[in-house]
Amino acid sequence: METSDKINDRIDIKSLTLEELKAEMENLSEKPFRAVQLYQWMHRKLVRGYDEMSNIPAALKEKCKIGFQYTALQLLEVQESKNDGTKKYLFALADGNVVETVLMHYKHGNSVCISSQVGCRMGCKFCASTLDGLKRNLLPSEMLDQIYAVTLESGERVSHVVVMGTGEPLDNFDHLLRFITLLTDENGLHLSQRNLTVSTCGIVPKMRKLAQKKLQITLALSLHGATDEKRRELMPIANTYSLAQLMEACAYYFEQTGRRITFEYSLVRQVNDSREDARLLAELIRGLNCHVNLIPVNPIKERHYVQSEKQAVAAFQDRLIKSGINVTVRREMGRDIDGACGQLRRRFLEK
Ligand code: SAH
Repeated sequence: METSDKINDRIDIKSLTLEELKAEMENLSEKPFRAVQLYQWMHRKLVRGYDEMSNIPAALKEKCKIGFQYTALQLLEVQESKNDGTKKYLFALADGNVVETVLMHYKHGNSVCISSQVGCRMGCKFCASTLDGLKRNLLPSEMLDQIYAVTLESGERVSHVVVMGTGEPLDNFDHLLRFITLLTDENGLHLSQRNLTVSTCGIVPKMRKLAQKKLQITLALSLHGATDEKRRELMPIANTYSLAQLMEACAYYFEQTGRRITFEYSLVRQVNDSREDARLLAELIRGLNCHVNLIPVNPIKERHYVQSEKQAVAAFQDRLIKSGINVTVRREMGRDIDGACGQLRRRFLEK
């Protein structure tokens, strides 16, 4: 699916780099410093429209309204977890589509989990986001807007961003890269690349392409199975790329960037949580500079998958530790508030 960078024939101003914005100002016979002002209003002061830009002359605001689309999200719903303060947001985009975004509080700072697409076409069996397929890619501005809107609503500083919400970020590759450029730009929020994690189901050629960009972001790979057979049961993408190809791509990513890979492994009762599964996983990733994040699967009502028993999780973790592998079990944040990916959006669409 192709998504144009123009909305209704108008340029999406919040997806432009400062240099591009300067060129646009030149086209309008405006001074370059106007681009700097506009950029700061958008990406530092996070205003929701041209009317809030107090030092921009009315005539330029008019030109901007005619020439450029200004995206802004509309907040539809916020849920706050009583357990851990996690907040889940449902936003409407300009075209009426909805996306969800999550704010989580950790000791190391506040992390926002954003969506990269409206829906998803990857078809992972346990995931709520993919049940209705892909509607469209999100624009770079719409990915930024999620962070900006959460910052404004919560009044909290966002220190970490994870692209782990609805969608497959590497299936929206160009917009993802532009989003990263803008998010880490010194004239905007200036997030450190090291505080950004991108999670993929494993689109091998795109992982290699990303590696060649030599960014300092963390790549998280959704593994969920340690053999091709197991993985294919849960993830259709495993029919396209084998584990051998995937592991080579991970090694390549580390080689190019020096960044340790994170493997995500959702534990599903009696599907991928046995001691033998743990042994095979340890064997598969032995020698790779990596970290394993075990996630008790979040049951969704459309599927029959059940969480692993506590002892099974502990035994699985123990087996990996004994093999010298770095492993953590993800704290379940916001289980009381439609915790699983895509659940809030789905509940909304069903209404
Ligand atoms: N498409 C990307 C990012 C979005 S999903 C990817 O596949 O990585 C983020 C993570 O949550 C992935 O590891 C995904 O497999 C996992 N996930 C999705 N639904 C889940 C559920 N119901 N329970 C546990 N993990 C889930």
